[in-house]
Amino acid sequence: MEIFALHVDCHPSGPDDLYFERNNRPYPSLPHRYCPSCHPPQPLLPPFAEAGVITSNSRVPEAESLKLSHPVIRRLRKIEEEIGEACASLLDEYEQRRAAGDPDVEDSNGQFWQHFIRTRAVTPELCDELITALRQALGLPDDRKIDPLSALGHLHITCNRLPVPDLVRVFYGDGEPLLAGRRTIQALQEAALSRYLVFPVRITMCRKLRGQPPPEVQELLVTGHGGIPRGYVAGKDYTECPTCREITYLTPYAGVALDERQWDGADLFRFTDIPIVFATARAREAMERAGLTGITFRPPSQIHKHEGEITLGE
Ligand SMILES: [Zn+2]
Repeated sequence: MEIFALHVDCHPSGPDDLYFERNNRPYPSLPHRYCPSCHPPQPLLPPFAEAGVITSNSRVPEAESLKLSHPVIRRLRKIEEEIGEACASLLDEYEQRRAAGDPDVEDSNGQFWQHFIRTRAVTPELCDELITALRQALGLPDDRKIDPLSALGHLHITCNRLPVPDLVRVFYGDGEPLLAGRRTIQALQEAALSRYLVFPVRITMCRKLRGQPPPEVQELLVTGHGGIPRGYVAGKDYTECPTCREITYLTPYAGVALDERQWDGADLFRFTDIPIVFATARAREAMERAGLTGITFRPPSQIHKHEGEITLGE
């Protein structure tokens, strides 16, 4: 079965020319999951950039329906605060020890940073418990994957330029949120494509565009599953952690193919733990027929793994 990788840009001409930037959200994020079985100490680059909780590209916009006083949200907020405080005091300790010439703190693989990484995360058990509590509070089905570090609630963004394409990514990175304009949503609906959701987005216009109407876009969340790419062998091409079940791809490879036995039949989908969105020929045809801007379809042979990240080659 033929599939295509969806390439969506976030700027018209260069890195300083982003259509959007993200604003702070009133909702906390899910915490990071530290797994003693599969997360070896790793250097944090740069280690001080984020003293608090980091977020991933994954999102749970449905959480916007929960009041900020909901027990799950309050619990997550409390964990976020505790992690932020613990990290801030660790960074103070780092500065003091570095000023005193302590050689251990300069070793990014050393004990100090292991401790730092653990402090920024919760155990796999607690992380699973929080995800389950959130799933129950929102009534989300089991096949709706929720990742650690997911941002909760609707996207809050600032628009820096107009007009925006029919499909646009909020920031760099293949897993970044996608924003779909009216024409895109209409094309997906008319073709009755499966496994995507749309959510409202709160947009502030940047100073130079103030007074202009915000672009009519919604967050497009692709929920289809492609499973593990066809022909991938556990232990050779990827590992699955027995504790936290995270998939780590081992081989630097070119290309992915669909294993139809694992695929849920979705027209738009992702492979397990690969952030790139894929489209079936039917989905591609529907989007091309509508003449949507901002999208190119690439052969899956252009997928490659670079420095641990799986990306869509230029
Ligand atoms: Zn693990």
